[in-house]
Amino acid sequence: MELNPYEVAKEQIDIVAKEMGLDPNVTRYLKRIERALIVSIPIMMDDGSLQIFEGYRVHHSTVRGPGKGGIRFAPNVNLDEVKALATWMTWKCSLLKLPLGGAKGGICVNPRELSKKELEKLTRRYATAIINFIGPDIDVPAPDVNTNAQIMAWIMDTYSMNKGMAVPGVVTGKPIEIGGSVGRNSATGMGLYFVIDAMCEKLEMKLETQKIIVQGFGNVGGWIAKLLYDRGCKILAVSDISGGLYYSEGLEIEKLLEWTRQGNYLKDYNDKRYKLITNEELLTTGCDILIPAALENQITKDNVNDIKCKIVLEGANGPTSPEADQILFKKGIHVIPDILANAGGVCVSYFEYVQDIHAYFWDLDRINKELKRILIEAFEDVYEIYKERAIPLRTAAYIIAVSRIAKAFDLRGIFP
Ligand code: NAD
Repeated sequence: MELNPYEVAKEQIDIVAKEMGLDPNVTRYLKRIERALIVSIPIMMDDGSLQIFEGYRVHHSTVRGPGKGGIRFAPNVNLDEVKALATWMTWKCSLLKLPLGGAKGGICVNPRELSKKELEKLTRRYATAIINFIGPDIDVPAPDVNTNAQIMAWIMDTYSMNKGMAVPGVVTGKPIEIGGSVGRNSATGMGLYFVIDAMCEKLEMKLETQKIIVQGFGNVGGWIAKLLYDRGCKILAVSDISGGLYYSEGLEIEKLLEWTRQGNYLKDYNDKRYKLITNEELLTTGCDILIPAALENQITKDNVNDIKCKIVLEGANGPTSPEADQILFKKGIHVIPDILANAGGVCVSYFEYVQDIHAYFWDLDRINKELKRILIEAFEDVYEIYKERAIPLRTAAYIIAVSRIAKAFDLRGIFP
């Protein structure tokens, strides 16, 4: 049965509320979203036909600051998925002490079926439909699955044209030429790298000798695969939506990145040494570090008993179901939760937002240093609670993130 990610997100709140003895009123509040907007997006297609798409933007919590979260273009996007993703953004920003709340958006569409012109029209019409819902002081979108710097540029332009002035701070993940930040592209992968390096140190494992499997070979999966490959790790398998490639001696990641960058699928890559595998097979292939970096609900009660690794490093948002989480914990497999592991993206998005507002830009060295500092601080906070209470890393991370939201809620009080 398909798991509903929003039900998963709410179950995670219940688990942590019980662990920390959270006020039931606050728990009830956190399980709601502040606002949701559903929009129709009519597009005149290149062939003259009219297609109407559905889009969403959700604010889960702005109690600690303006909303922040990506925009996803995918065929299975729906309101509950976006609500879950917005909720996870609240915890992520809170865990990193960013003065931002949780938001997310998406359009139910397969962008691969659209021409570039159609994609631009879709993006601009969606941006117009949500224009009063976003802005540097309200909610700042960013890229997510199947969206990129070009799409952010179209949103920034649409917003700016409507306001009659350039507003670079309305989105992050923009091209550098129009107010983007250096290091944003690699940020999520870089964050995963800092966190797994710190975790290996705690566990006295040499990172460079670990065998790695990565599901998803886009922005997140591609970058972490490359960073670990450069570190000397053997990358046993990677996959995209078309399937995966496996090689016991380690794949040549740079060549695969070049291949997918040209718009090709991994399944069509031609190297006789590599074995084609399915995404299901990939997840249950033995390795040291498994990195789900595609979509939610990949490790569930159905396959969790076949997972053979020491660490699950969550590149994707919500890849592990609560039931699977418990089983992995009992088996002694460490799960580094999404809200910590993949928080590098939102962290550098925050830097981009700050740079846009100040109109003063940092260099890559400063970006990566600050990113490492913030992530390692969060990692140490989480690890301390994890050790102290002998609870899953996710619960430890949630305790910190939820406490900060609860405190902010308490300080602000209930209006009126
Ligand atoms: P992307 O579009 O760049 O890449 C997604 C990858 O997953 C592609 O290789 C795609 O082929 C693959 N994929 C899609 N559907 C799949 C399926 N059903 N099975 C297997 N593979 C599939 O997206 P991204 O930005 O890399 O995001 C990946 C995940 O990371 C998402 O969960 C996203 O929410 C999360 N995330 C992204 C960022 C970011 O900065 N981009 C930050 C934090 C978290």
